[in-house]
Order: sequence, then structure tokens, then C-alpha cells
Amino acid sequence: MNYARFLTATSQARRSSPIRVLTDLLATAPKSVISLAAGSPNPNLFPFKTAVITTENGKIIQFDGEIMKKALQYSQSSGIPELLSWLKQLQIKLHNPPTLHYPPSQGQMDICVTTGSQDGLCKVFEMIINRGDNILLNEPIYSGTLAALQPLGCNIINVSSDEHGIIPESLKEILSQWKPEDSKDPKKNTPKFLYTVPNGNNPTGNSLASSRKKEIYELARKYDFLIIEDDPYYFLQFSKPWAPSFLSMDIDGRVIRADSFSKILSAGLRIGFITGPKPLIERIVLHTQVSTLHTSTFTQLIVSQLLHQWGEEGFLAHIDRVTDYYRRQKDALLVAADKWLTGLAEWHAPTAGMFVWIKIKGIHDAKKLIEEKAIKKEILMVPGSAFYVDKSAPSPYFRASFSLASPEQMDIAFQRLAELIRESL
Ligand code: PMP
Repeated sequence: MNYARFLTATSQARRSSPIRVLTDLLATAPKSVISLAAGSPNPNLFPFKTAVITTENGKIIQFDGEIMKKALQYSQSSGIPELLSWLKQLQIKLHNPPTLHYPPSQGQMDICVTTGSQDGLCKVFEMIINRGDNILLNEPIYSGTLAALQPLGCNIINVSSDEHGIIPESLKEILSQWKPEDSKDPKKNTPKFLYTVPNGNNPTGNSLASSRKKEIYELARKYDFLIIEDDPYYFLQFSKPWAPSFLSMDIDGRVIRADSFSKILSAGLRIGFITGPKPLIERIVLHTQVSTLHTSTFTQLIVSQLLHQWGEEGFLAHIDRVTDYYRRQKDALLVAADKWLTGLAEWHAPTAGMFVWIKIKGIHDAKKLIEEKAIKKEILMVPGSAFYVDKSAPSPYFRASFSLASPEQMDIAFQRLAELIRESL
């Protein structure tokens, strides 16, 4: 792979910060080394001394004096080593990336911790996109991605999708305006990447069928574009076995995968991680060196200690408990929808995540109904237009989340909504 062709001039121009390099060196230096180099503050002067966090099984995560000093100090831009090594083992177990043992320059799998996956995605987009570049995605799509992409001035090409995700035929048709060799000529402006949320897409709750993934990956090879797999709902898949990821089929080193602990451990700790080819992960880390410097050492250590305490088995058992909850919530929302919205609206049962995408029948645009009238009836939902490039285009859809409301509240909400739809027709 020629990674340089995917990088903006800004990203190519990034160089290691000499101070950050020293932070890496110091972290692994023997105790005998006397450092007069680091600009790290003296942690003895920090007012926080120890911490004890109780976890759900009554166990504790203890930060004694020494660990607390580490937690409060600067750390490596790519993430603390004990968390990185745990994440690497997890990715190997779940995805077994073919690139694991490739030479670094040829796309060897690498990982960096980011301040939530949003931070990682934003850096990935800024690493790749020049104004006017063509990129591919399937609308409706996560509004946070659109908010990060649109100011970069790229030309967003929508690939059609259905309840099984991106339709490969649609992608094929879009790509047929180019020849495979056009990717070698920058003037031809072939798409640089395809972005997709393969499991429990936000907002549709749909997942991309595995057979389609293979076809899409082959098209990525043919037309030489990257695949950005934004997969925060991977762990919230309602049935097993979990779908094979693009990372698991990445024989070229063209997949950038964004994972998140927001939906399963904590959204506020802000821990996500990006897995991808080393030459690209390096660019993200160089960006981190000059932006946040690193994700909070404290929150990384909390997560790392928990994961080491649980082990892989404990982690996966936790995921099962979380997914069981969301599955029950999803079922409750669907029961309420069947009861109140049958005949008034249409939807598909989501396969993962925390959302149902609902189309109101006989209405051209649901925006006013959802944004103004529903609020007056004390129900909040997101109008469909929020998930499209053109937010002024009419959409009969809305997104309902089943993460927080109780089954009783869902029932009342859809009863109120049904009244509203009837009044509006
Ligand atoms: N991608 C998608 C599809 C999401 O739904 C979200 C969160 N809503 C994110 C990324 C960002 O998650 P994080 O908290 O890890 O930044």
C-alpha cells in the first residue's frame, strides 16, 4: 500500500515532538536513570493522594500513593503500555487481523488510545481529507461524523443502503465512473475512503451483512480506497456469533477501525481506540502529540486496572450482561411500537446498538412533528434530517433510543406519539 497518497500535506508534515519522545523514553527507562529532561511537574505537590473505586461486583480498584502519582502525570501519546497491550490481545482474539505480523511500513496492525472514538475519528478525517476530495458513506449516518466531515470540504458521495447495510451494487455503480488505475492519478480524484458503522448503525440500528462486507472489501482493493469501520456498537450485537469485522479480512492493511468503551464501560471516562496500519496510526499519534498530548492517564489507568482484574473472560461476561439489558430494552420498545404505532409507522427490528429508526406513514417531513409538537407532549426523539448531509431535506423518519427509558415510559411515549400522528394526518 502507498499510504502517502492518502495523507494531507498537514499530516505528512507532522514530526515527533522532542519532549514527547522523551516521555516515551522515560516511561521505559531503568530506575537508575536520573532525568533532568522532562518538563513533568512534581506529583508530590498535587493535592490528590489516593483513590478507591468500587466496581459492581463489590471489588475495588485501588490507587495507592505510587499509582496515584502515575495517574496524575503525563504519559505516552499513543496510550499507556498496560492498556495498549490488553487492547492488542483483545483485537487479536476478536479480529485476528491478517496484518499482525506484516513489516511496519507495509501496514502492520497497530493501536492507539484516543479520547473517545470521536477524537480518533476526527483525527483520521483530518489526516486524510483535502478540500474537494471524494469520500463514500451510507446515509443516514451518525451526525457526529457528518459534523466532523462537512467543515473539511470533502465531497460526500452517498452509497445506497437497506436494512442489511450498504448495497454493494450501489457502490459498484458509483465506482464505475472511474477505472481501477485512476487511483494512481490524483487528478482523477478517486474516493479516498468508505466510512461506515457496520453494527447497529446510528441511527438505523441496522448491521452490514457479512457477505456484503467481503464484496465491499474487494471493491476497496480494486479501486484502492481505505475503509473506516466505526464500530462502537460491536459489543452490543443482539445475536452471536459476532459479525466478522472489516479488520478481520484486511489482507492489505487498508482498514482503520474505531472502537469505543463508551457504551460498555463509561462514556464520560472518554476511552476509545483506533486499530489500523502502523503508518497511519503513527500519524494519529503525531496529531495527539500536539493536541491533547495524550488521553487522561487517570482514566486510562482506571480502565486498565479493571480490564486486568477482569481478564478477557470477565470482560466478555460483562459485555453479555450489558447486551442482555439492551436486548430486553429493544424488545420492550418494539412491543410498545407494535401496540401503538402499527398502521401509523414502519420500522425494522435493530440487530445491535441502542436505536430504532422509525418512518411515519403519510407524512413528507417529520421534523416539525418531532421537533416542536412532540416536545409539547413531553416526548423527545431526534428527527431523521439530523442524519443526512443535507439537513434541510425532508425526512419522514425519526430515531428513538431505548437505552434509558423504562418499558412503561416507552409505552407512554408511543401512546402520546400515536395521538400526535393521528392529530397531524
Ligand atoms: N461513532 C458512532 C457511530 C457513535 O454513535 C458515537 C457515539 N454516539 C461515536 C462514534 C462516538 O463515541 P465516543 O463516545 O467513543 O467518542
